[in-house]
Amino acid sequence: MDSEDKLVERIARSMSEFISSSKPIGRSSSILELGVGDDSAVVRPGAGHDWTLSSDAFLEGVHFLGDVHPADSVGYKALVRAASDLAAMGATPRFFLMTLAIPMIRTGAWLNRFLQGMKRAARMLDIRLVGGDTTKFPLVMASMTVIGEVARGTEIRRGGARPGDLIYVTGTLGAAELGLELVKQGHLRRKNLQKWIRPHLYPRTRIQLGAWLARKRLATSMMDLSDGLSTDLPRLCKASGVGARLRSKDIPQLDIAKIPRGPTRNQRFDALAMALHGGEDYELLFTVPARHLKKMQRAPGFRALRAIGIITADRSILLENSDGTLSRLRSRGWDPFRKGRRKRG
Ligand SMILES: [Mg+2]
Repeated sequence: MDSEDKLVERIARSMSEFISSSKPIGRSSSILELGVGDDSAVVRPGAGHDWTLSSDAFLEGVHFLGDVHPADSVGYKALVRAASDLAAMGATPRFFLMTLAIPMIRTGAWLNRFLQGMKRAARMLDIRLVGGDTTKFPLVMASMTVIGEVARGTEIRRGGARPGDLIYVTGTLGAAELGLELVKQGHLRRKNLQKWIRPHLYPRTRIQLGAWLARKRLATSMMDLSDGLSTDLPRLCKASGVGARLRSKDIPQLDIAKIPRGPTRNQRFDALAMALHGGEDYELLFTVPARHLKKMQRAPGFRALRAIGIITADRSILLENSDGTLSRLRSRGWDPFRKGRRKRG
């Protein structure tokens, strides 16, 4: 047996809990007829359901640093990032395929910890590994293809926002950006900062909320926030042919004053700038017609929801500042193809 077969076997053994079987998965109507071990998997789609499919690459040196980021965070995040795009459609995660390229030096303890993190994500998402590929490469590259399930015709697309719709976001925006900043400054292991670093290492996803919005048909458009509100909101607006007006005071921001003093003493973190432009929060951005306002109170995780503005017929994207003045919101989020350093503030 060559070493690639051994590696595949190790991954399969480690993930055995998530590599199964002919029984229905969760509340799924899709059935996995044949999983890992043959040339490809065989899945029987459930009646009255559609699949949503997405893939995401997580690359050493681009999305994480091999010698800085913990291996279990890399494994966790590689899968959660991809699954976030299923949540963003209102779909429920079912299956994933993984292409993993790693250098020899990472095939030992590093890989074990990577798989531990991935298992934690798979458990949280209730998703099954149905195939993939493993190969040697000078850097770590994890590419995840995820398959979600949604009742036919209920997926929530980006293009349905209409003037007058309320704009909602979940969670605290900018939390992942602050965590990244603290890690970059060498505070990864600092105990009193763990709470602030965690959103960067182990982001959550809003699967239940997304699926609820789809089931109840309450949202007219939705996407996940991966590149920052100022970059992602224009994408949603463009797809819908509308504009937006946000109220800066309603955008859920970090409480900077609560960050322990000490290592961060002399820094001036700008909570609003982080909330507008910080990437990787994997929170949901969606629009709801105002007439559904009351129904939204029954949303799972309602307390983590915030209405931050309104969709407009005018296509510009405006920010109402705390002093009442209006300014145009410029996109300053994450873009791997943008030249030079991002300017913030
Ligand atoms: Mg997305």
